[in-house]
Amino acid sequence: MMWLALLCLGVGLVLVAWGRRLHRATGLPAGRIVGHDVAGLEGTPSSPLLVAPRLGLSGRPDYVIRVEQALVPVEIKPRRRASRPYESDVMQLMAYCLLLEETTGVAPPYGTLVYAGARWHVPYTPDARRAVFRAVQEARAALRASYVPRSHTHPARCRACQVREVCGEALA
Ligand code: SF4
Repeated sequence: MMWLALLCLGVGLVLVAWGRRLHRATGLPAGRIVGHDVAGLEGTPSSPLLVAPRLGLSGRPDYVIRVEQALVPVEIKPRRRASRPYESDVMQLMAYCLLLEETTGVAPPYGTLVYAGARWHVPYTPDARRAVFRAVQEARAALRASYVPRSHTHPARCRACQVREVCGEALA
């Protein structure tokens, strides 16, 4: 029976090592996955929708990882290639950090952003928190306003925009 116990132990160790390798390959930070928003991923609970009624903010990160006492959001953009994170992606990630802080009472130390071939741990700082608050306020004001000026000068962004047909500010 000893050989059977040793065999089970060996298989268990191989599976653990393989799981860790897979975990690293996805770009996820080390830690236990406590939720995800990824279709077809078995064995891990789906992330609940995070809601902060006080802020009028809600969202669901691709993954939520437990790192020590905190929950860390992870956003994955598998087809995006860039040498540094897009500002809009960072803002989305910081909004998830704020939502996790509001719903758990513990501020994540950072959020993780994964592109094709690159990964960043973006610190969740008081400045980042303030930036999310500001963005929420600006979005609310924009919703109330009848005219919202274009906030960029990138024609490519307009070409990919879903409301281009009805937008009076679209760039060629
Ligand atoms: S088409 Fe209009 S809404 Fe869309 S990105 Fe361009 S300016 Fe913004």
